[in-house]
Amino acid sequence: MTPPIVQSPVRSGSRTYKGFGVSPGIAIGRAVIVEKKVASVYRVPIKEEDVGREVNRFLEALDVTRRELLDLKKKVSRSMGEEYASIFEAHALMVSDPSFADKVIQKIESEQVNAEWAVSEVQEELEARFESFEDEYLRDRGADVKDVGDSLLKNLQGIAHHDLSEITHDIIILADDLLPSDTVHFNRRPIVGFATESGGRTSHTSIIAKSLFMPAVIGVPRLTQIVDNDELVIVDGYEGTIVVNPSPALVAEYRSRVSRHEEYERKLLENRTIPATTKDDRQISLQANIELVEELNDAIRYGAEGIGLYRSEFLYISKSPVLPTEEEHFNLYRRLAEALDPNWVVIRTFDLGGRKLAREVIGSKENNPVLGLRGLRLCMKHRDMFKTQLRAILRASAFGKIKLMFPLVSGLQELRQVKTLVREIKSELDAEGIAYNPELQIGIMIEVPAAAIIADLLATEVDFLSIGTNDLIQYSLAIDRSNENVGYLYEPLHPAILRLVSMVIQAGRKAGIPVSMCGEMASDPLYAIVLLGLGLEIYSMNPSAIPVIKNVIRSVRYKDCKRIAELSLQKKTAQEIEEFVIESVAMRFPDGLVNNNP
Ligand code: PEP
Ligand code: MG
Repeated sequence: MTPPIVQSPVRSGSRTYKGFGVSPGIAIGRAVIVEKKVASVYRVPIKEEDVGREVNRFLEALDVTRRELLDLKKKVSRSMGEEYASIFEAHALMVSDPSFADKVIQKIESEQVNAEWAVSEVQEELEARFESFEDEYLRDRGADVKDVGDSLLKNLQGIAHHDLSEITHDIIILADDLLPSDTVHFNRRPIVGFATESGGRTSHTSIIAKSLFMPAVIGVPRLTQIVDNDELVIVDGYEGTIVVNPSPALVAEYRSRVSRHEEYERKLLENRTIPATTKDDRQISLQANIELVEELNDAIRYGAEGIGLYRSEFLYISKSPVLPTEEEHFNLYRRLAEALDPNWVVIRTFDLGGRKLAREVIGSKENNPVLGLRGLRLCMKHRDMFKTQLRAILRASAFGKIKLMFPLVSGLQELRQVKTLVREIKSELDAEGIAYNPELQIGIMIEVPAAAIIADLLATEVDFLSIGTNDLIQYSLAIDRSNENVGYLYEPLHPAILRLVSMVIQAGRKAGIPVSMCGEMASDPLYAIVLLGLGLEIYSMNPSAIPVIKNVIRSVRYKDCKRIAELSLQKKTAQEIEEFVIESVAMRFPDGLVNNNP
């Protein structure tokens, strides 16, 4: 076993660092520092006699990458046109450039390191060189270098290599930053937890961590410098702390906390089959958000009454850069619907863009991707890709209870355009004699402030609304949800947010359509009380949060929560509101209703 180490002296004494807990749980393992911003690349020293084998491994991956890029070029040219396909031709040329290969081989040989590390080092040098050019076109080619390097790294990882699977002990990944596409691959031992310097509580990286039940802490300043590789680390996702080099007594204490939590969760799960009804008989529906099909069992196990949000883009993210075929989409959606029957599955169409950027789809780099081609707008621009997904959803709707939902809608016109597209696809299916549910319900996410403000107009042209507070808060308060520097401004109880949420719920009520919430706000016990009081009846969340929120719902009276919400709406700051809600809850429920950390 070769630990992936950048050697440095191990510091002594137990040290605790504070960040934000974004995925509950406690993980104990040895630190592995991921030194690269994007791909998870580790520096593994190799023996002299292994150098030749390592060079061959690199050459093999280079060849696979070259063939893949040419193949991709053909596919993209067919589906999206020559303009986009030329990107991959340029990439293939770069892979064929002998000076690139020479540099990598030289590094493997002279430094006796694994090929991944050598590729990423050369990639970084080249990127820096391109970035220093004055010419904008040349500067942009730096992104091409990055893409090629990333594909190469992916292929290298597919060829028997020195990687984390060689490690037999539990490890904690520590990184400056991680992308959702990195985290998606963390669902296996030896990785048991992670922590990062940057990130946000509702970033998709944090959301994926919860889906994988992987304790995670983000926003720990200078993390990768203050911890050494191989030090023992405890990630406390409840408290949002990292304990480095803990004493055996402290480890034992944490282990006993793990047992307490397991016991607590086991107790909570006893409520999985009983309804989420308040003490004064208001019926609430608790549903699950899922990103990966593997979470389906968790959703059922935790008592979800359906899937309120299936983030379909993760189907693409885990397969990228190859787009899923209509059959792949169809089989998956059908499987979801059949497994959940008689409950509903809300399939959200691809919400790519922002940090879930798929450059192969976008075709170019954006300066401000969160305000760029994302969600519905990206899909409407890339019709062929979108139509493939919509056809599959429509076809699957003949096999189970499926609803269709569009992300990032900002106005009525784009809603009408996408509904026209759905009608066109229905006609195509009719002409082909393919079955679908003609009554397929269409809903939209309310996550752009403009949409919340005109929710009354939108509500008259859809079957349901779902409030996405992760983005609604990001766009309303002008804070990047993945940026730890403005994390302190991420305030779900901000009066502006409460007013917007209240407006949307009222708009839905007036139009006679259901309104749900699938943003993270719905899974917080304290916020859940205010939301209940604002009239929310459908909550969708990470499966593991369902029993906790059910406990809250079953312990309160709607009447009391309504009063709390009304008074909250009269307060002026998020802090005032939070203090007021905490006080009200403490007064009515002295036993600690919202304690999720026994
Ligand atoms: C949201 O924005 O609240 C939401 C649920 O969508 P996502 O987190 O995938 O952007
Ligand atoms: Mg969103």
